[in-house]
Amino acid sequence: MDAKAHKDIEELYQDTVHWHVNTGGETIHAKRVPGFFRTLKWYTGSLWLLYFILPYFRWEGDQAILFDIPHRQFHFFALTIWPQDIWMLSLVLILLAMTLFGVTAVAGRVWCGYFCFQTVWTDWFTWLEEKIEGNPIQRRKLDAAPWTLRKVRLKLFKHVLWMLIAVLTGITFAAYFTDVYQLWADYLTLQAPLVAWVVLAAFIFGTYVFAGFMREQVCFWLCPYARIQSVMVDKDTIMPTYDYKRGEPRGKVRGKGVSERGDCIDCRLCVGVCPTGVDIREGMQEGCITCGLCIDACNGVMEKVGRPKGLIRYASRKEMAGEKLRPFFRRPRVWAYLSIFLLSAGGIVYGLTHIPPVELSIVHERQPLFTRMSDGSIQNKYTIKAVNKTSQNLHFRLSIRGMDHVRVRLEEAGDIVLHAGRTVPIRVFLQAMPAQLKKEKTKIYFVLESVSGKDKIKISKRSVFIGPGKR
Ligand code: SF4
Ligand code: SF4
Repeated sequence: MDAKAHKDIEELYQDTVHWHVNTGGETIHAKRVPGFFRTLKWYTGSLWLLYFILPYFRWEGDQAILFDIPHRQFHFFALTIWPQDIWMLSLVLILLAMTLFGVTAVAGRVWCGYFCFQTVWTDWFTWLEEKIEGNPIQRRKLDAAPWTLRKVRLKLFKHVLWMLIAVLTGITFAAYFTDVYQLWADYLTLQAPLVAWVVLAAFIFGTYVFAGFMREQVCFWLCPYARIQSVMVDKDTIMPTYDYKRGEPRGKVRGKGVSERGDCIDCRLCVGVCPTGVDIREGMQEGCITCGLCIDACNGVMEKVGRPKGLIRYASRKEMAGEKLRPFFRRPRVWAYLSIFLLSAGGIVYGLTHIPPVELSIVHERQPLFTRMSDGSIQNKYTIKAVNKTSQNLHFRLSIRGMDHVRVRLEEAGDIVLHAGRTVPIRVFLQAMPAQLKKEKTKIYFVLESVSGKDKIKISKRSVFIGPGKR
């Protein structure tokens, strides 16, 4: 170890004397060290910037992504999902759950460490804190110092920036449910409806308190995923792990008995960088979000003291026990997650490629089932409920298949007009002579054929014509 590295390590020992395992009693001021996982965390966290810009995307003049609750539609660029297609949303949720379970089974809490909004927002908040108040030692000193003008100025500046992020987070969330430009105008002129203010207040409170103050405590106490993840991991799951055999007995880098010590120089930098205040050397713990920052820290230390990197590394319990690691494709649990994932993905693809432009349902009048008319014919009454899922009004002509010589009468004569994005109930009367009815119930098909628009649309729906039956 050269003189500079030695000085660095000695300074590290001075720095880390206050770093201890998190028991929730005080704010964690984690040190930031550069490294592969730190960079990865920046990149994955940056994906959340899309959250802030997506509401401004337009598609054919309208907001590209919009949960239009008043009209019960979800717009996603060219796609419009109606309540009738909501089953696809269930599949999307199953697919996301299986992705989460599968990734957790293979590589632990990847979601928590790199993607979760709670940890990402906390990372942004603490980055700002570091820029304003300084490194962990300076922050701790500032927290303990009496209130001076400087302290007020620094704290005020930090909280104003945190609040701005919280406000932007809240407005952005609301923007997924209404036109974003109108929403900004409504907020700025204080004309927004009550529900918009409630959403904004809830998000400001949640973001400011969870990311600014509670931080890792949200993962410890509020997040259900932290509780259930233990059932998804097994001995083959790779997670940031301390190589106990190589590291122990730990001890200072110099001094008596150094030759009998393991590679861990007990600098505690791995604890100091941990955003949840975990000492990974004590084994896998509930608080570990598998962010890998302790790996970066320890690798830096190992480089300085001239020892091989990887004292803390992504490894499975089996690997640490000297057993052979099963590849993920030979693990039944991964196959189970993958199979459900593929089934859900297949269902979503099918749904998206088979969404009909018009959703049709036929309700047969039950009271009475049929009416005998003065000319001796039998009449059945139906209500057609049709949803035009396109963006244009459509004109249709109705015909009946499956029964000959049936007379069709609409409550309103002429073509059936389905207005864009609306559900219209249409009353229809069918009449047939008893001689044409061979049995009590005759299977028939209502066929709607478009007579307007470039693309011809033809939809048919099965129903039944009910008569008195043969006596
Ligand atoms: S595991 Fe690495 S970072 Fe942690 S105390 Fe030991 S040497 Fe330091
Ligand atoms: S122990 Fe390591 S991997 Fe786990 S949360 Fe702390 S820094 Fe991240």
